[in-house]
Amino acid sequence: MSLLMAAVLDAPGSLALLEVDDPVCPPGGLILEVEACSICSTDVKMLRAGQKDLVFPRILGHEISGTVSDRYGASPSVGERVQIFPGVTCGICPSCGRGAENHCKDMRIFGFNLDGGFAEYLVVPRNSVRNGGVNLIPDGMRFEEAALAEPLACCINAQDRVEVAEGDSVLIFGAGPAGILHALLSRERGASEVAMAEPLQVRADLAEALGADQVLSPLKEEFLDDAMDLTCRRGFDVIILASRDLAIDDDLLSLLAPRGRVSLFSGLPTHLASPGLDLNHIHYREEMVVGSYGCTPAQNRRALELISSGSIDVGRLITKRVSLGSILKGMEHAERRDGLKAVVTDFGG
Ligand SMILES: [Zn+2]
Ligand SMILES: [Zn+2]
Repeated sequence: MSLLMAAVLDAPGSLALLEVDDPVCPPGGLILEVEACSICSTDVKMLRAGQKDLVFPRILGHEISGTVSDRYGASPSVGERVQIFPGVTCGICPSCGRGAENHCKDMRIFGFNLDGGFAEYLVVPRNSVRNGGVNLIPDGMRFEEAALAEPLACCINAQDRVEVAEGDSVLIFGAGPAGILHALLSRERGASEVAMAEPLQVRADLAEALGADQVLSPLKEEFLDDAMDLTCRRGFDVIILASRDLAIDDDLLSLLAPRGRVSLFSGLPTHLASPGLDLNHIHYREEMVVGSYGCTPAQNRRALELISSGSIDVGRLITKRVSLGSILKGMEHAERRDGLKAVVTDFGG
C-alpha cells in the first residue's frame, strides 16, 4: 500500500498534508474510502481561528461521501456507496430517543473531535453504523452531490424548526452556500416568495441565477422599505439568518408578518450575540425566534431523497473542485466569497 495522506490541522493557521497510519477497522464499524468531502465555512473558521468543539490535532471535514472499503459487521457491504452523517451518537440518551440526535449528550463529530473526511480513508465507529449515520447513496447520484446532503440536512433542520410551509413568504439573509440551499429548499416546500438579502454583488448574481425571486442589498438605505414592498407591506412569514455578520434587532423584527418566525441558522460572534430587543413586539405580534444547530440522521436521509428525486439540484452550487493536496486553494475559494461550494474530489490514492 502506498503512503496514506490526510490534511491535518495542528493549530489555527497550521494545516499540512501529512502521512497517516493505515486505518484499522473498529468492531461493528467500517473503513470508508473517501470520494468527496466538501468544504464548509466552519472548516475555514477552524483553520483560521479554531472552534468550540474542535480538538487538535485534527483531520477536518464533515461533509463526506465515499465507498465502503472494509467492514467489521453485517452491513453495509464492501463496495457500497455511502454518505456519512457527521455526528456519532450514543443512541440511548433522551435526545437520541426523541430524534434530536444533534443534542446527544455524548455526541462526537467527524472533523471536530473525531478525524474527518479530508483524508484518503475515514474510520467510522460502530455507533455511527448502528445509529443510522451511514446512508446508502441512491443510484445515479454523484459522490460530490451526496457530500452536499449534510449542509442541506442542516437547512432542513432549520426549516423544520421554523415550519416553512406552502404559501409562506421567506426572506433569507446571506447568499452563501447555506443561504442558497435555504432558498432552494423554501421553494421546494412551497414558499410563495423567496427573497434574499446579500451585500456582495457576485453572490447576489449567483443567487438570482439559482432561483431567488429578488435579491436586495441590505446596505442600501431603502432596504427595509424595499423588502416590505415585496410582501405588499404585510411582512415576511419567515426570516432565515444565514450570515454571521448580522444580529437580530428591532429593524429586522419589523420585517416580520404577524405570527412571523425567525430562524437563527448561523452562529454569531460574541459582540452580536446579545442584542437588545423589543419583546413586546414579539408578544403582540405572536412572533417566534427559533435556533438551529446541525442536523439529524433522518434529515440526512431526507436530503439524499430530495437530491435524488431532482427536487433540489445541489450540483449547481459547486464552483470549485480541488485535490487533497491543494485543499488550501479550496479553503481560499470558500473564504473569498466570490463563488459557492468547494469540494475535495481527488484524494490521490
Ligand atoms: Zn458544515
Ligand atoms: Zn445520545
